Amino acid sequence: MDFLQSQLEALKATGNYRTLAHAEQEGRYLLKEGRRMLNLSSNDYLGLAADHALYADFLRQVSPRWSLPSSSSSRLLTGNHPVFDELEATLARLYGAEAALTFNSGYDANTGILPALAGKDDLILADKLVHASLIDGMRLGQAHWIRYRHNDLSHLERLLKQEGEAHQRIFIVTESIFSMDGDEAPLRELVELKRRYPHIILYVDEAHAFGLRGSKGLGCAEEAGVTSDIDLLVGTLGKAAASAGAFVVCRQSVRDSLVNRMRPFIFTTALPPLVAAWSLYVIRRLPEMKDKRRRLACMTRYVHEALQAQGISTASHSHIVPIPVGRSGDTIRLAEQVQRRGFYLLPVRPPTVPEGTSRLRLSLRADLTDEEVKNLTHELAASTPFILHPKQHHTDS
Ligand SMILES: *Cc1c(COP(=O)(O)O)cnc(C)c1O
Repeated sequence: MDFLQSQLEALKATGNYRTLAHAEQEGRYLLKEGRRMLNLSSNDYLGLAADHALYADFLRQVSPRWSLPSSSSSRLLTGNHPVFDELEATLARLYGAEAALTFNSGYDANTGILPALAGKDDLILADKLVHASLIDGMRLGQAHWIRYRHNDLSHLERLLKQEGEAHQRIFIVTESIFSMDGDEAPLRELVELKRRYPHIILYVDEAHAFGLRGSKGLGCAEEAGVTSDIDLLVGTLGKAAASAGAFVVCRQSVRDSLVNRMRPFIFTTALPPLVAAWSLYVIRRLPEMKDKRRRLACMTRYVHEALQAQGISTASHSHIVPIPVGRSGDTIRLAEQVQRRGFYLLPVRPPTVPEGTSRLRLSLRADLTDEEVKNLTHELAASTPFILHPKQHHTDS
């Protein structure tokens, strides 16, 4: 296994070596190596996973028949507990759609849907920055696929004109809020494009928007008023919904096809009914959590303005705030510095992001206090100049 050792050494040399941290989440905090830090790196955007009273309430009312710790089977065999049907019916109703189907994870959803629906005569056009799970879905399938420049609709349309004729169907694939950059896809314009070109199927991954955006918290498509124009609307349940799993909202014929053909749906044990029951409990309450969404939106505006005042600018206007650094080594140093001050921010490095674009990734959460947000922006203002503009502050390399 010597070949592995040299590969690992190469990762270490470029600052891209990763290890699993021993860490424990305690409400909004992360306990790690004897330190207690505000957890600004999780996807618990509404603070629901940290809300022990909410979980206690769920446990009080859940029926023992629904709180099983295992499904013991795939849903196509004996694992289709009624809680899954209820969860899917609830999602379909919320979105005003014909159907919904749930999966064990967003990774399963995105690696399974495209191979099940897109055949060898089809074309997939995906945003350059879509999540790794979508890339893997394209790799696993039969369809030809091309990535268009990030959020660049003129590039997308050029590809549609060049390649469109030769293909039966064209899948356009994007995230709504991009996971690493925090910026947003132009959903209205994509829907407009779909109206102008026949055979377009629009696939939108709302992993970082479900629960947060739109008046009912259904995502950016709800906010933009285009949910009924999205053919495949994917949401994940492990982020703002504080549970596990994922779903697609779609036509009934799509659901039926996925049940018959989607390998990560068919060949896996369903999630424990207990987990699906918790998802259902949270999803039923999401539409009323307007205060949390509003709080997060205000905090987001405040943080972006404060960072801009420090000359730190990004394309993000969302609760995902990348703080661009560049080199992986510098990014790690900055992360360590803010962690020492009690803010758990993590460096994001290649291969998650392109070479030379390492950054800190700040995930805001609705349960931060005003004081904490203020301290955080002060800390970033104090720490980042030394990393981002080294020449102005010191001369060593
Ligand atoms: C997190 C994420 C996924 C994967 O979802 P899991 O439920 O964690 O497997 C898929 N797509 C995007 C955009 C994500 O950020």
